[in-house]
Amino acid sequence: MATFIVLLGPPGVGKGTQAKILAETTKLAHVSSGDLFRENLKNQTELGKLAKSFMDKGELVPDDVTISMIRERISRPDCEAGAILDGFPRTPTQADALEKMLAEFASEVNAVPYITADESVLVERTGGRWTCREHGHIYHEKFSPPQKTGVCDFDGSELYQRDDDKVETVTKRIRVYLEQTMPLVEYYRKCGKLLEIDGAQPVEQVTRVLLSALNK
Ligand code: AMP
Repeated sequence: MATFIVLLGPPGVGKGTQAKILAETTKLAHVSSGDLFRENLKNQTELGKLAKSFMDKGELVPDDVTISMIRERISRPDCEAGAILDGFPRTPTQADALEKMLAEFASEVNAVPYITADESVLVERTGGRWTCREHGHIYHEKFSPPQKTGVCDFDGSELYQRDDDKVETVTKRIRVYLEQTMPLVEYYRKCGKLLEIDGAQPVEQVTRVLLSALNK
């Protein structure tokens, strides 16, 4: 049976960084809804244009378009063995849709690591975040700087600061997260799938705790 891991946590907690490491370690596909929207934005697709209006305001893209984008993504061959889902689901409607989608593949969500940190940590992290244009590799000017300023260590592409990482938008994204995504924490806790992890620790320590929680 395929393995699907849902990473939950507020914006800026390091979910994307951990998702990439986890995908490399487990050899599962990394499916990031935020990256998929940004890719659509870069390619100027209709979906990208629609998503931009919500992303710029720090709001969630409507459930129906988000769900069909993920359905298409996880139907691809590289998700046959499963995937690390990063940023999806983010609402109870998306969580229901995911359950139904996975049931079609005779699968289910296996584990839900929930990475947490105080709001002050989240604002500081997003404020100094730089993202690679080509593959979305993530850096922080203070905590994990690239070897050469403005250039990705992995693929040499340009690093940029996301528009929605501005302080006002981050504060809004955190509020949206608390209102719309927090119910999922309780939902997965009740299902016995939630693994709580302190995201205020250094990246390597979070990875260690995450991997050992998943191995149990
Ligand atoms: P992220 O890179 O996960 O922080 O996502 C960036 C932005 O993309 C979010 O602030 C939303 O506007 C949008 N987005 C990403 N994932 C979802 C989702 N599952 N549902 C709705 N909107 C999303």
